[in-house]
Amino acid sequence: MIFAHEVGHGVHGILSGQAQGPIMAGAPITYCETASVFGEMTTFNFLVDKAKKIGDKKALLALIMSKIDDNLNTTVRQIGFSNFERRLHGMDAAYSKWEDPKKHSVEELNQIWLGTIKELYGQDGEVFTYENADHLWAYISHFHKPFYVYGYAFGELLTQSLYASRPGIGEKFEEMYLDLLRAGGTKDVFELLKPFNLNPASEKFWVDGINVGLGKMIEEAEELSEEIA
Ligand SMILES: [Zn+2]
Repeated sequence: MIFAHEVGHGVHGILSGQAQGPIMAGAPITYCETASVFGEMTTFNFLVDKAKKIGDKKALLALIMSKIDDNLNTTVRQIGFSNFERRLHGMDAAYSKWEDPKKHSVEELNQIWLGTIKELYGQDGEVFTYENADHLWAYISHFHKPFYVYGYAFGELLTQSLYASRPGIGEKFEEMYLDLLRAGGTKDVFELLKPFNLNPASEKFWVDGINVGLGKMIEEAEELSEEIA
């Protein structure tokens, strides 16, 4: 899956590089993870089909559970990180308005960190019993380059919605998808998704992104675990 992810970046870079040249080849954060997540999805579905063909339900459940874990890390956890980052740079605790950013002490950073991860995991969770759990923000190097982490959640959900549009579009999808990758940094995300009839400004787009990926997998995992038990 990691290999598929990085090959996705490679393919994206080659296609956009050939079409746009070195200056405009780089995709913006909003869709620079599209080809990589797409590669993961394709590989995951290939493996799921294989496990179904063999009839190995335990392997299938393990596969789906690990993908659910990945998906939670890419989407939910990164949104938690993004909340920490927004607080760090001046957003108030209710996420309603920006205030002037100020320099925080380590204790304040720890407090904001624990607050945002409790919103994410709930009050109880083994994550809080880790040694130095309040300092864990320090190991995430993305925070050195502010406002990058949202791209993971954005990209994952965008790609889930894009992937789910494939059956409706049919054979044309492949060429449309390759054109999307060829756009490099020349289009914004609205223009880019228009041919697929997808609109990231609507709430439905994001809810669908959660339901078609994570939602479907959770349902499948529940059914499977009942069958095995
Ligand atoms: Zn990546």
